[in-house]
Amino acid sequence: MTDFTATRALFDLPDGVIYLDGNSLGPLPRGAAARVAKAITDEWGQMLITGWNKAGWMDLPARVGDRVGRLIGAAPGTVTMGDTLSIKVYQALASALEMRSDRRIILSDNGNFPSDLYMADGLCRTLGPDYALKTVTPEAVEDAIDDSIAVLMLTEIDYRTGRKHDMARLIAKAHAAGALVVWDLAHSAGAIPVDVTGADTDFAVGCSYKYLNSGPGGPAFIYVAPRLAEQVRPALSGWLGHESPFAFDMEYRPGRGIERMRVGTPPILQLAALDAALDVWEGVDMAALRARSVALQQAFIARVEGGCPDLTLASPRDADQRGSQVSFRHPNGYAIIQALIAEGVIGDFRAPDILRFGFTPLYLALEDVEQAADRLCAIMTEGRWDRPEFHARAKVT
Ligand SMILES: *Cc1c(COP(=O)(O)O)cnc(C)c1O
Repeated sequence: MTDFTATRALFDLPDGVIYLDGNSLGPLPRGAAARVAKAITDEWGQMLITGWNKAGWMDLPARVGDRVGRLIGAAPGTVTMGDTLSIKVYQALASALEMRSDRRIILSDNGNFPSDLYMADGLCRTLGPDYALKTVTPEAVEDAIDDSIAVLMLTEIDYRTGRKHDMARLIAKAHAAGALVVWDLAHSAGAIPVDVTGADTDFAVGCSYKYLNSGPGGPAFIYVAPRLAEQVRPALSGWLGHESPFAFDMEYRPGRGIERMRVGTPPILQLAALDAALDVWEGVDMAALRARSVALQQAFIARVEGGCPDLTLASPRDADQRGSQVSFRHPNGYAIIQALIAEGVIGDFRAPDILRFGFTPLYLALEDVEQAADRLCAIMTEGRWDRPEFHARAKVT
């Protein structure tokens, strides 16, 4: 049984704050500050460039990738870290398209995160006028899979509503139609049990700064199924994905397996933070985490619906259809969230009208969730959100 009181003690959260935004930026794990300080002073400071060998910096993307892999059902040696998620989406898509060179269509849904769609669109423009990104509603994806589709690119959990796709089912359908699949696990890794191996995905990508708590700008991960890893030809063919980077050959030869999905110099300080953040996950049972996440979400929904009828649930009501977040709609969502943050409960707003709350059992208790709901309802019933300062839009929402 996972002890969530013990995991809570491993985080540094500011006093008086209830944090329901770990789905967007995870909080600081206590061990991360010390680990990064050590990487700066003992490694960078003392070892200088010899740190690449002596401190094992060069192997960090693979070592940390294996630790992330454990949380998404990936075998050791099938995940590597680096770059940002947008880059990893591009990289996976480009490789997948090249492997289905007789087809031209990327299929996705219109609830996908815009960056994933922008990246797909940009890649199509580079490849030529006959390449196209096709988007349908999330509900229509399954029926839109046919033998014209080269790649099915989906995000398992909708960033706005928390709606969850049936990954294994859609993969089976895509494979039967001869398409490859790229799954974005941005809101899945560390949020729900994931089994990339069992679901038989071809590619999976995701970020580490959300539920995995690596800090702002933490590196992304990429998984390639072992059955494909030796065939993939990376479009972003950087020197660190080369079979022998320090041979400085004129010609690119892809490295072994997942190593070829590396691009350039890895972000060592961010990887050090992530490595420490992953210590928190040691011994965490994903089924227990999921059960607790659902209990927190259900308690929140019940309390909010009971106390503020003006908010409309935007997430699926059935917990099995949801990830680890709950969203409500309200035309004044932005101002309501600002008022809530001013009162110590941090959630976020997603245009046009979504109030979004992430549930992270590692550091959230039932009392936190109940208090958050009560404060939200008090703000609503007393109209405390309707002040000019809460309507002013900041750069990041
Ligand atoms: C958070 C998120 C991103 C962000 O990409 P970055 O390159 O890390 O900024 C991309 N896609 C999805 C689905 C996300 O949820």
